Amino acid sequence: MKIAAVRCVEYTGTLDHPGAFWEERLIRPVDIYPQFRAEGPGFLPPTGSGSYRVTSVFVHIQTDEGVTGTAGPITREQAHVIETGFVPLLTGQDPLATEYLWDVMYRYAVHGRKGVEMMAISALDCALWDLKGRFFGVPVHVLLGGPTRATIPAYASALGYSLDPDKARERAAEIVGRGFTATKWFPRHGPTDGKAGIEANVALVAALRETVGPDVDIMVDAWMSWDVPYTLQMAERLAEYAPRWIEEPVMPDKPASYAEITRRMRPGILVSGAEHEYTRWGIHQLMAAGAMHLYQPDTYWAGGISEMLKIAALASAYDVQLIPHGHSVPANTHLSFALSPTLTPMIEYLIKWNTLHQWFLAHPVHPVDGVLTPPTQPGLGMDLDENRIESRQELTFA
Ligand SMILES: [Mg+2]
Repeated sequence: MKIAAVRCVEYTGTLDHPGAFWEERLIRPVDIYPQFRAEGPGFLPPTGSGSYRVTSVFVHIQTDEGVTGTAGPITREQAHVIETGFVPLLTGQDPLATEYLWDVMYRYAVHGRKGVEMMAISALDCALWDLKGRFFGVPVHVLLGGPTRATIPAYASALGYSLDPDKARERAAEIVGRGFTATKWFPRHGPTDGKAGIEANVALVAALRETVGPDVDIMVDAWMSWDVPYTLQMAERLAEYAPRWIEEPVMPDKPASYAEITRRMRPGILVSGAEHEYTRWGIHQLMAAGAMHLYQPDTYWAGGISEMLKIAALASAYDVQLIPHGHSVPANTHLSFALSPTLTPMIEYLIKWNTLHQWFLAHPVHPVDGVLTPPTQPGLGMDLDENRIESRQELTFA
């Protein structure tokens, strides 16, 4: 079997949604500058009252034997790198030789060890695993030696919801009502927002704890926008509300800052991060520095399923946890069902992103009663739902 074609296709459809889809955004490192801090959560162009235009790019790897593998959504930048850089490397090759193809792409794109090129390699690797599972007629978690258990709890990430404490209470109650036993929130304030910002962050977490009660886990994600003293100060203030972890307090380029935060963190609160770090080598530098308790590289960014297996082996050897960032729940679910429950106790489920990222999927992977079960479709189950596709455009970058 040989790879016959690699195609990036942009699909468009309509999502009906009353009111604003994005009510709030997360804090960003660039928000230290007022002109960026003032920006709102405008991610999606509205198509009219109560509906949004959804546009997603998927990459399809086709073979001369009719088996196809699909991955996505990816960005247009990833599609550009795939079309201009990687298509010639993949065409004519054996699609089952995933280790060989990963190594060729990695060695070819020497400036792409982190960032868009590695994200493109990740998506191609996921498409090749989808293809491999379809070729053998089994789900990818079976190819990887799973399932390791019957269910995995999902945690509900509330990115995009309003942070007004009253609205947050309503949503947190809804999340617990859907059976989730853990929920992650994204405080909007950081070191440049002064004492009022600290109080607003504390008020949010206090409202969440009051709503969900003592038995549901609450996690707090700072998206790289805090610093060492601020994180330690927030941990002191939040301790009475018992957050399970504080996520990505600083940029992943600062292993020493992470190590200091982890060393000085209050017992009972974990430090997590690394969703913006790439490959076994990047993650290993953080692990070797004792940077955090829990690592969250993204399967679609850090190198794909092939690379996440190596990162999982490292995490196991360092005796830290690995809970992949939740860009792609289908890929993460297959991977997680092939990992030990102590290594990967949960799966992230970003509620709003999964509405968008899985909009065009015929077999979307959504938790039921707060848990995920092993998917039964062959490959990664990446078939598209023709009923949702209003138009499609092949992306070419000649
Ligand atoms: Mg995060």
